[in-house]
Amino acid sequence: MAIQIIYDLSVAKPIIGMIPPSGWHYFDSDAKLTGYSYDNLLHVVETYRAENHIPIGDVEGDVNSYICSNWPQFCHGVDMVVINSVNPSGELLNDIQTWAKNLQNSNKNIMYVTDELAEERAKTCRNCPNNVNWRGGCSSCISATERLTASVRQGRDTASSAVLGGCALQRHDNRTAIFLDKDELQKATALPENCWLNL
Ligand code: SF4
Repeated sequence: MAIQIIYDLSVAKPIIGMIPPSGWHYFDSDAKLTGYSYDNLLHVVETYRAENHIPIGDVEGDVNSYICSNWPQFCHGVDMVVINSVNPSGELLNDIQTWAKNLQNSNKNIMYVTDELAEERAKTCRNCPNNVNWRGGCSSCISATERLTASVRQGRDTASSAVLGGCALQRHDNRTAIFLDKDELQKATALPENCWLNL
């Protein structure tokens, strides 16, 4: 049985008075970025992305997600629950990385849906038992996968999308998949009836 960390990025935030192990830091791909404070770290990550022509995306969300998923005890707004289906070995992370790389390396233009439709899908995933935490394994792999998936969805996010995990059946990143046209996705068998992929 494994522990799944449930965190809502709208409320899960590092406790500023507590410094995470190894100080305020974040891995953007393989680059370890450090700051002398939480706010400084956000600034460092933003600057790093700007200087390296990386989509700025949701810096605060990415940093909070990294810190709160690795050290939930250093964050407000994180609940720990025990769930059977979570695989902490990093298998889902590896599958998501492969999925995102295949999309990125395909020669065709990726088709996206509207933010409104993506938000509807996000709400379905949020309430689905197959939406699970994929952040297991090495921290730099997590950051690299976050970068990769953000690039596939071109930095898109909706009100509900940032709290999504991965789909245990589809083996994709829900935060990203909800923005893709269904033609970009292959349907797994035995999806729940109310899954947006069935609609
Ligand atoms: S089964 Fe469908 S609704 Fe459930 S998490 Fe996967 S994609 Fe989302």
